[in-house]
Amino acid sequence: MCRNSKPRSRNSPTSRIEWKPLVHHDPLSTPSPRITMLQPLCPNCWEEVDGGVARCPRCHYSLVNYTKLKYEQKLILSLRHPIPENQMMAIQLVGELKSSSALPALASMLCEEKDFFVIREIALALCRIGTRESWELIDGLRHHPSRLARDYAHLLITESFPGIEPDRSSRGQG
Ligand SMILES: [Zn+2]
Repeated sequence: MCRNSKPRSRNSPTSRIEWKPLVHHDPLSTPSPRITMLQPLCPNCWEEVDGGVARCPRCHYSLVNYTKLKYEQKLILSLRHPIPENQMMAIQLVGELKSSSALPALASMLCEEKDFFVIREIALALCRIGTRESWELIDGLRHHPSRLARDYAHLLITESFPGIEPDRSSRGQG
């Protein structure tokens, strides 16, 4: 029997783990100008502002008053958020809240918006809000320059009101 009591020096990679600290960026301790997500934005003009200032230096919007706004009012301001993910989330949330107060903002967004995915999200929110005015806005989309937007409005209307044949449709008349 070979009594090999002497520990062999092993060169197996598992026996000796060389720990190399990863290059670690802590966004809280090392602020970077590239991290705009963390920089507070003015909810009125979306300029970056320093935390703790009472008014936006650009548009003079009162950031103190903003903190007193109701959740729904803050969401309505966020409908114009410059970060697309945040804007989409605000559109979804006003729909889930059935916020009829958001209708003027959604209506004006529909007049300007070119991105079909944003238009689709707005139309879906209008469908959820479900008031006469919101359905009139969806109805108006059936004459939108974008065919995708027209088709989506048509789909929402026919799915929600299966008995109604949209007689003012611009489709399929020829
Ligand atoms: Zn501002």
